[in-house]
Amino acid sequence: MVALDAVVSLAKRRGFIYPGSEIYGGLTGFWDYGPHGAELKRNLKNEWWKAMVYGRDDVVGLDAAIIMNPKVWEASGHTKAFADPLIECKVCHKRFRADNKDILSAHEKEHKETVSWTEAKQFNLLTEVYLGVTEPKDKAYLRGEITQGVFVNFANVVASSRVKIPFGIAQIGKAFRNEITPGNFTYRSREFEQMELEYFVKPGEDKSFDYWKKERMKWYVSLGMDQKHLRFRDHEEHERAHYARFATDIEYEAPFGWSEFEGIHHRGDFDLKNHKITYEDYTPWVIETSGGVDRAALFFLLEAYHEEDKRVILKLHPLLAPIKVAVFPLVANKPQLVEKAQSIYRELKKNLVVSWDDRGNIGKRYLAQDEIGTPWCVTIDYDTLENDTVTVRDRDTTKQERVNVSKLASYFSEKL
Ligand SMILES: [Zn+2]
Repeated sequence: MVALDAVVSLAKRRGFIYPGSEIYGGLTGFWDYGPHGAELKRNLKNEWWKAMVYGRDDVVGLDAAIIMNPKVWEASGHTKAFADPLIECKVCHKRFRADNKDILSAHEKEHKETVSWTEAKQFNLLTEVYLGVTEPKDKAYLRGEITQGVFVNFANVVASSRVKIPFGIAQIGKAFRNEITPGNFTYRSREFEQMELEYFVKPGEDKSFDYWKKERMKWYVSLGMDQKHLRFRDHEEHERAHYARFATDIEYEAPFGWSEFEGIHHRGDFDLKNHKITYEDYTPWVIETSGGVDRAALFFLLEAYHEEDKRVILKLHPLLAPIKVAVFPLVANKPQLVEKAQSIYRELKKNLVVSWDDRGNIGKRYLAQDEIGTPWCVTIDYDTLENDTVTVRDRDTTKQERVNVSKLASYFSEKL
């Protein structure tokens, strides 16, 4: 299995992920995404939106505000639920009620190493913010989950679109939790981005829970996750939120152990009841799929990382790769070659994310592109000037083939 350190180092070196505010010593639990990381995240979000919204007739999108009326968090139970005294396992960072000794000792047995615990604390994971300019300022919160934005807009969406139950509302956005022990690189951060679906069904309906479990697993596999590195794990009684009828995690086998990738939760009517929201003459039930964009970026990087013959290759699915095609003139000092390469580069750029490289030799350029996961490299050489063909080199096989310049755009679009 790949070492986390190798991926942390590659992420920094190749512009995927940097420590947040690094020139001022960083800030625990915050990360910045570089040029390639920003593309990777964008691709993940686009693929998710395509699968969850555009590809369906029963889901619409939403983009709610990060700061909401504090009454939302009182109704949702977040201000209260986070006030229990909790302790946290220092090995896996899971939190438990401090007063439940049986569960704590059962958990200690789950680890090979000796477990130590943090002090019992009143955790309130909501991040407070203060609004206005005159004292006393109004206290509000950065949202601790994006979910509530969907519930409070349920009636607006029903009234302003043509959805009918069963239907879903999808949303992607930032959330904030004042974690006491962020860790495992970007896995547990204080600022993170969620991609969630809230799917509303009639009371008593359970079959959508199984349906969404399978759909979400299929999505990860379709983007290149090896099924062997994924599993479902049903929540046990003690870890399931009291309102959840069923809860399952899709877990990834990370270097730091099996870790939550995405949660699929059957929330029953808990949420809409709290907000006193009804539909026709009943309170709908909700099935939720809740994934993290940052976790997905991290796990896909871990999954893609390969070392072969001293070269590092990121075998990212082409749809996720930050750069789809790199274009090289064989040499940088032959104006005719460079001109031809530039025209091919400009043409491909109309529809694809393409990069240009004329530094060093071809071998070094291949190595650099392999490390950021570029699936194809196009080289313009002397034959190109003769017969209008170029060399296309495949990242994973390193095989090269000659492709006619006029066929190049369709060659790539067929593979994407
Ligand atoms: Zn633990």
